[in-house]
Amino acid sequence: MKKVVVLGSTGSIGKQTLEVINGLPEEFKIVGLAAGGNWQLLAEQIRKFRPGVAVLAGEQELHLLCDELDSVETPDLAWGKSGLEDLARLPQADIVVVAVSGATGIYPTIAAVRAGKDVALANKETLVAAGHLVMDLVNQKKTALLPVDSEHSAIWQCLTGHDKSAVQKIILTASGGPFRNLRIEEIEKVTVDMALCHPNWQMGNKITIDSATLMNKGLEVIEARWLFGVSYDQIDVVVHPQSIIHSAVEFLDGSVIAQMGLPDMRLPIQYALTYPERLPGNRPGLKLTGLQSLTFEEPDLNKFPSLRLAIDAGKAGGTMPAVLNAANEIAVSLFLTRKISFRAIPALVSEVMEKHQVISRPGLEEIMKADRWARETGTEISKSLI
Ligand code: NDP
Ligand code: MG
Repeated sequence: MKKVVVLGSTGSIGKQTLEVINGLPEEFKIVGLAAGGNWQLLAEQIRKFRPGVAVLAGEQELHLLCDELDSVETPDLAWGKSGLEDLARLPQADIVVVAVSGATGIYPTIAAVRAGKDVALANKETLVAAGHLVMDLVNQKKTALLPVDSEHSAIWQCLTGHDKSAVQKIILTASGGPFRNLRIEEIEKVTVDMALCHPNWQMGNKITIDSATLMNKGLEVIEARWLFGVSYDQIDVVVHPQSIIHSAVEFLDGSVIAQMGLPDMRLPIQYALTYPERLPGNRPGLKLTGLQSLTFEEPDLNKFPSLRLAIDAGKAGGTMPAVLNAANEIAVSLFLTRKISFRAIPALVSEVMEKHQVISRPGLEEIMKADRWARETGTEISKSLI
């Protein structure tokens, strides 16, 4: 029996995780669920999966959830940051799926690894901000950090059976987002609705905007650096608009191994849950003869400066990636609430990065302090843009 906790169960990855578990054999059991504010959907999930513990972000929503459930259905309930961390280290859990969005993922991921849990990590912001700390802990505790992000799942699958020393390059594919073919002047006029329409993937709002700016790919470069222990010079980003090749690895002898599949997050989610086994997926498979063509191109860093900013932040190291991430979270939320333009997202992130004094090898407190500083500085700078 594999006992699973899902953090962020009401989000895009969280819902798909529950769907995958529903289709898996009975030896997968949900023992804990956590959500932000959507207590109505969490109530439905509790009725269906009967976890022993449920957590919400706020106390008020927790009362609403409590009123909604009858006494037989009600699991142990908790709220807030401490509730989320306690759930991440739930004694009976074997694996914790971290599918909350943004820097919220940092503390529960660290709590889960410290408690010796395997972690299926969708939340890339955690590795961006605190990659060295998380990887040190994973190595110390000898737990498994199982990538859920589709590119990283692909790389992991390509690497299976190979020694890390045989890796020449990691080829990280990117769809290029909805604005790949726009001219710079057209990108100036992009609206929220346009940016929320991703051509290949249905995802939460934050990552959808990150995909449109290519910040998502930049965050993934940093994520790959930590997960696979490669240098930034060993990671190439290649735009592949069809999203069929989810990433590839080039080995020293020149052989390139790629992982392919339809763009469907349920596959990497399932692989992380069933690893090292593969179980039937009950989803449509990839039919090669049904594909018209697979194309590849270089990313345009002038049109999409966020990708360059992320790589620069990764190379600067220390607290800079945490600053990049926090400034980007602020910029994306201001864009989503229609307070700044699409082009102002990288401009804001860049300005915050320029003001930052990097601390190398930071501890968790220094990372969180840099995160708070970047949010405050980003908010202050944004006032001149609104
Ligand atoms: P969503 O915005 O759809 O979901 C976020 C989830 O986190 C929701 O369940 C939300 O709850 C919950 N949440 C937010 N704040 C808190 C909190 N303080 N405490 C507990 N739960 C909280 O995001 P996605 O599912 O799209 O993405 C999740 C993560 O996975 C991100 O880091 C993203 O980068 C990564 N990822 C996503 C992919 C995708 O296809 N969606 C692909 C690869 C990676 P509520 O809704 O109830 O407020
Ligand atoms: Mg991805």
